[in-house]
Amino acid sequence: MSISIDTVNLVVESAQKQGFKKVTAVWLEIGALSCIEPETIEFCYEMAARETIAEHSTLHIESVAGQAYCFTCGKDVVLKQRGNACPTCDGFQLKVIKGDELRVKEIEVE
Ligand SMILES: [Zn+2]
Repeated sequence: MSISIDTVNLVVESAQKQGFKKVTAVWLEIGALSCIEPETIEFCYEMAARETIAEHSTLHIESVAGQAYCFTCGKDVVLKQRGNACPTCDGFQLKVIKGDELRVKEIEVE
């Protein structure tokens, strides 16, 4: 919940700072390893946007694949889910380097 409130605040703040009156759409990137359900974000976003200039804006959610560094293979590998083994060597000596974030990619304003 706090994540999406922060996200909405950020969007609203930066839009207001730039002199816009209304946020009409927001694109969010959610990492596949973030453990955040898109449905949860949608719901929280709607609640957080209420009575702000982002109210009634459309939320677009894009999923970003996870990436980890495998110490066994010595290279970056794709991870579909947190807790998965390395797809190359089946090892678990992994360090997540991408895919556990929630990021505002783009906003549309009026
Ligand atoms: Zn590996």
